[in-house]
Amino acid sequence: MPDTPEDDLLSFLDDDTDSSVPTLFKKPDPWRVLSVDDDEDVHVTTQLALNSVEILGKNVELLRAYSGQEALDVLSKEQGIAVVLLDVVMESDNAGLAIVDKIRNDLGLVDLRIVLRTGQPGYAPELDAIRDYDINDYRNKSELTHTKLYATLTSAIRSYSQIRALEASRKGLELIAHSSGELINSNGFDAFALRIINQLSDLLGLSDDGIVCTRAEGRNTDAGSDYMVISASGRYSRMANKKLCEINDARVQHSLEASIQKKSNVLQSDATVLYFLGQSGRNLVAFLDQTRHLDDTETRLLDVFCSNISVCLNNVLMLSKLHHYAYFDSLLDIPNRLAFAHCIEDWIKKDVSASVVLVDVDQFSAINDTIGTTNGDFLLGAVAQRLHDKLGDAFVARVSGDVFGLVGDREALSPDRVREIFYEPFTIVEQEQLISVTLGLYDLVGGEDAQESLKKANIALKKAKEFLRGSHCYFTREMEMETETRVRLLHNLRKAFDSDRLFMVYQPQVNVADGLPVGVEALLRWRTEEGEMVPPDRFIPLAESSGLIIHLGEWVMRTAMFQLKHFQKETKFKLRMGINVSMSQFKHPDFLSVLDRAISDSAVDPCQIELEITESIAMIGRLEVNRVLSAVADRGIKIAIDDFGTGFSSLSYLEQLKVHRLKIDKSFIDKLQGKAADTRLSEMIVNLAKDLDLEVIAEGVETEEQAGWLKKIQCTEAQGYLYARPLEPNWLIEWLREQEVRLAKLLISRDQ
Ligand code: C2E
Ligand code: CA
Ligand code: CA
Repeated sequence: MPDTPEDDLLSFLDDDTDSSVPTLFKKPDPWRVLSVDDDEDVHVTTQLALNSVEILGKNVELLRAYSGQEALDVLSKEQGIAVVLLDVVMESDNAGLAIVDKIRNDLGLVDLRIVLRTGQPGYAPELDAIRDYDINDYRNKSELTHTKLYATLTSAIRSYSQIRALEASRKGLELIAHSSGELINSNGFDAFALRIINQLSDLLGLSDDGIVCTRAEGRNTDAGSDYMVISASGRYSRMANKKLCEINDARVQHSLEASIQKKSNVLQSDATVLYFLGQSGRNLVAFLDQTRHLDDTETRLLDVFCSNISVCLNNVLMLSKLHHYAYFDSLLDIPNRLAFAHCIEDWIKKDVSASVVLVDVDQFSAINDTIGTTNGDFLLGAVAQRLHDKLGDAFVARVSGDVFGLVGDREALSPDRVREIFYEPFTIVEQEQLISVTLGLYDLVGGEDAQESLKKANIALKKAKEFLRGSHCYFTREMEMETETRVRLLHNLRKAFDSDRLFMVYQPQVNVADGLPVGVEALLRWRTEEGEMVPPDRFIPLAESSGLIIHLGEWVMRTAMFQLKHFQKETKFKLRMGINVSMSQFKHPDFLSVLDRAISDSAVDPCQIELEITESIAMIGRLEVNRVLSAVADRGIKIAIDDFGTGFSSLSYLEQLKVHRLKIDKSFIDKLQGKAADTRLSEMIVNLAKDLDLEVIAEGVETEEQAGWLKKIQCTEAQGYLYARPLEPNWLIEWLREQEVRLAKLLISRDQ
């Protein structure tokens, strides 16, 4: 039911106080009221009554219609009609009521207020109709005197404007909810700042001339001078990226400074300045031209918007932080592998000639050992900085420990240009540190994905490292195929190991003088499912580089020891067992305990075990090697240096090492042949062994002629196809039996 006219008047006056319109704005549009009546007199009286009347701060504009149909026409054409004064009886008894349904349902005018007027006192429409059609009021025409009409209209208009305000808030809140989503999705802090202006101007229908400031990074006072414009739009665009104190618009500057000082919103007649408190000092201040007066609803919406923005702002700051953690290397604070992949993707999309370069710092772990990890980290930082400084346009990321990734224009990233960056030494704790780098390069191809490109650059880097430190390699298709083959082989090797398709053979080692056995060397074999033999020279390096050798090596060691125990039962010869040990096995911290366990489990005499290590093992990190070798020797186990003569042993160092035997490499034995037989190196090794009090054995002896030379140069032991091939255990036992027979004959002939 409508309020009494007195109430209306009071609240009207209340309302009027805060709808004082600044002179800057033009007078607001009047309320539109449609009078529907077939009686011209009623229109005239109504018009007279409403002339120069103000309701809720606005005049009233009266529109007229003389029939139900005409009323519908006007309503469908005209916008913003607030109230219809509707005669009930016109062309028909019910003409007025009949159009109410059309107004509400066909035209969809639900916020429009309807006041029914009737000439016949006592005639009232059904209560149902009043309720169903949301009819605001029902009046007798005679009641509509000047004052009564005024009160009735005020009530209807108030109700209309409340409905409109509710609707506007609903829409506004919807917009705010939507804009929060948009803002949260914005890509980082700066994008967020830019969107604030757009969202505000959308929400309030203001222009999008505005700027947003934030405190410059590293500054922590609230002086206006510490603030920077991070986004600007519309007529303020040119102020972007300036310091607040540098912008030459005193009005804007002062308004913003005032808001910063007060840490709160400042609503001015010509500008809206909003202050958003962000975490850790990342506050935002937004300035927006005020092109229109905001009503109560809008001011309240603005409040909701502001508090919402503060929440969004903190979320964005948190997301930016998370983003930083996800995409930045925490040690060097430069982009990480993930960011690198994204950047590669962008370059692929650009469809220009671009390259990916992986830069591996040579011997970084050795440098780290020498200068300490803190300085090592510092060096990495200096490398990143230099890459950044010298290759301005390229994107620099840390891809892994000591590998940096570059992506950029192909020409700018030529291997020479990248390498020459490192000609100058770095200064680390007042010491000059010169480093070299190995490069893997890949020219990006459109349509490929970043991971694929990165993989290819990595293959090229690996190849370059295998070839020569300090060199570079471009990726080629062959490399990829080779890698694929290696991967397949490794996969099969693992499977073979798990399904017992690996087995050991044993090659006899003999005394040159009488050809009788003194030991065997255990050699690993792989027969594939298809029955093909894969040579150890192919699969051992693979097992080494993949780490599989640790398991495999332990298995070899144990198998060989258990087998030796078995051979001993079968033969009178006292044999030693030679077991090959790879570098990674030897360097493994568990090496000695694995060895001890194998010995005690198999119960072999350690004195009958001989580990074969290569010269390169003997030479690495000398102190550490000698410690392990001494521990091995302390157990009575012997050590032979395999392929002796092919490495770079320093003789003085050899003297200090705890080793027992040198195995002369087959390449020297090959020279003990034919007219141009060259005995110099073999002889030298034999003499060296004698001087150092070491045993010596010749490898790969294939002919009697070679055996003859060995006797001459006094090499006492030998191994090779001349005596026996590597044999499976049963065959070896067979061979040993033959040797026993031979020995027996020898002894008999010696006795005779
Ligand atoms: P190596 O330790 O130098 O082994 C000697 C190689 O020379 C063996 O090749 C053997 O079959 C071959 N050989 C022996 N006598 C003759 C001969 O008169 N003429 C010729 N042409 N060759 C002869 P294999 O078995 O193919 O092994 C190759 C390499 O694989 C070995 O070289 C060793 O470095 C590695 N290897 C083999 N088994 C193992 C193992 O169980 N563990 C480790 N770590 N490495 C192994
Ligand atoms: Ca060997
Ligand atoms: Ca060898």
